[in-house]
Amino acid sequence: MGRPRRSNPRLCEMPGCTDKHYAKGQCKLHYFRSWRSKEHKSNAREEEEASKKNALS
Ligand SMILES: [Zn+2]
Repeated sequence: MGRPRRSNPRLCEMPGCTDKHYAKGQCKLHYFRSWRSKEHKSNAREEEEASKKNALS
């Protein structure tokens, strides 16, 4: 006893980031950022169509 026990010593693996680990080796911010960019890629075509429609109207 007396030894400080860190339950989650992992940190974000992104270079220059010292935030606590959240998932997949990344902190919450970077994890959701990469997750959202993946979503964005899959929806890229739809967004392109939408922007075309906006440009027309
Ligand atoms: Zn991070």
